[in-house]
Amino acid sequence: ELPPVTGDFYDISHKLSEEDRALQLKVRTFMEQEIQPIVNEYWLNAEFPFEIIPKLAELNICGVTYEGYGCPNRSFLMEGIIAMELARVDTSISTFFGVQSGLAMGSIYLLGSEEQKQEWLPGMQQLKIMGAFGLTEPEVGSGAAGGLTTTAKRDGDKWILNGQKKWIGNATFADVLVIWARDVDDNEVKGFLLRKDTPGFEVKKMHDKMALRIVQNGLITLTDCVVAESDRLQHARSFKDTAEVLRMTRAGVAWQAVGCARGAYEHALDYTRKRKQFGKPIAAFQLVQNHLVEMLSNVTAMQTMVYRLSELQDQGMLKDEHASLAKVFCSLRTRDVVSKAREVMGGNGILLEHNVARFVADAEAIYSYEGTKEINSLIVGRAITGFSAFV
Ligand code: FAD
Repeated sequence: ELPPVTGDFYDISHKLSEEDRALQLKVRTFMEQEIQPIVNEYWLNAEFPFEIIPKLAELNICGVTYEGYGCPNRSFLMEGIIAMELARVDTSISTFFGVQSGLAMGSIYLLGSEEQKQEWLPGMQQLKIMGAFGLTEPEVGSGAAGGLTTTAKRDGDKWILNGQKKWIGNATFADVLVIWARDVDDNEVKGFLLRKDTPGFEVKKMHDKMALRIVQNGLITLTDCVVAESDRLQHARSFKDTAEVLRMTRAGVAWQAVGCARGAYEHALDYTRKRKQFGKPIAAFQLVQNHLVEMLSNVTAMQTMVYRLSELQDQGMLKDEHASLAKVFCSLRTRDVVSKAREVMGGNGILLEHNVARFVADAEAIYSYEGTKEINSLIVGRAITGFSAFV
């Protein structure tokens, strides 16, 4: 009998409480039973499987670390494990979830007023209200800190927003969009809760992506959109506050990368044990085992790293550079793992039906979003050298 296929070689799950482990298994079962059978078709068609939302809501994992507003108030470690389990089966579903639970709800939870939290968070937690997070623009990606061109102009108890946002996940169906814009009067970045029916708000679905095809990314145009002062995120005063949200979500993206790598590794291991050439399973060849061990080394190094990252987060010790280092390392190693996974599967490695091809493509998006390798490296570089090398 062959040993079980698992990417958790150092048994990180063993570190979880019984309750956390039960939730991990619940999420895994949902992903394997409900998502795995449909995922390749949706990915190919670049559509989102809206029918899974009620079942995903039942897992009660949205806003898992937040306290109050119907949120479960569990650990950052649990949040990381959830991100990994989602991405292990499909990185797009994990990204959709990260936008809703992390970027959109997180902005409101960390920077909203009490009224704003009460208005939005309970419905978002139950996935009845969908959220998006609009920071990136057609001409402004990495340089968002100092370069946003979307403007906000105060007019009494209202604000007038103008500009464009690109790549915005969930934008095509979001009910509320967190829009980051530069206040033309004090030049600081402020956050706004834009309601989808606001006149002057237009969103176009982005087509022909070669990664995360299930995620519905939108190109947004804002033309004289009027937003009430009461819909401005009350505690978002400058880009530093935006960065607080990103610090939290970047840690989640590192876990997502682990899930993507783990999914690819597990599929590849399984495949190599079944596929026969020269009269025996290809997993029995030394060179194939070497590839598998390299993949597992990376997956294991990543998992132990993000485990400690979550501990720092749970102890209130997480710094920007901690999250950035994990994001850089994990998204880089993941690229390596998925390409080896594809390699050991030969030609079948590029067929969607064998799953690994999807991970290969999706790893490219994780590698670039929530701060590219260069930008996150510069954040770590600044912390360790004392010199900022951004400009
Ligand atoms: P650019 O900033 O143009 O960078 C191009 C290259 O130049 C990169 O390699 C970069 O590292 C390098 N570079 C730039 N500046 C420097 C420097 N100072 N030193 C060295 N190298 C540098 N954004 C949102 O706001 N909301 C979303 O929901 C969202 N979802 C996304 C989903 C997907 C699938 C993708 C691909 C992106 C998403 N984004 C989203 C945008 C994402 O955050 C940006 O793509 C990312 O920040 C990089 O910006 P850019 O693509 O404009 O690249």
